[in-house]
Amino acid sequence: MTTKRYDCLKCPGYCCSYPRIAVSDKDIERLGRHFDLDFEAARAKFTYHYKTKEDDEWCLRQKKDHVFKQVCRFFDTEARRCTVYKARPWVCRHYPHGNSCGYYDFLKFERVQQGDDEFIPSA
Ligand code: SF4
Ligand code: SF4
Repeated sequence: MTTKRYDCLKCPGYCCSYPRIAVSDKDIERLGRHFDLDFEAARAKFTYHYKTKEDDEWCLRQKKDHVFKQVCRFFDTEARRCTVYKARPWVCRHYPHGNSCGYYDFLKFERVQQGDDEFIPSA
């Protein structure tokens, strides 16, 4: 087993600030169960439809954030944590797809450069 070279607890949550976080029907069902909502109600409440010539997907709704302009609606903007961790979508479970995270490397590098463990560089 490889050791993770990133620590989400020290990160402001760059990955949760992507404007398009696409979810599957299974993800929506899981979120619905978590909140005791049926599929249609969960999809309407938690997602928006992103449709272009190339794409047709349901993405997590966002809300305003003081660090990033926008962040996932399920993100706790003060604690910088996911509020639906056990019911989070597949993509959130698998990100960053390996034992390192580019955002975390960037964050760590900038914090050393600034001599400030709390520094938050913009992505
Ligand atoms: S950007 Fe990387 S380190 Fe930060 S919360 Fe996401 S996975 Fe964790
Ligand atoms: S569901 Fe949780 S882990 Fe996924 S983007 Fe939203 S806050 Fe982040």
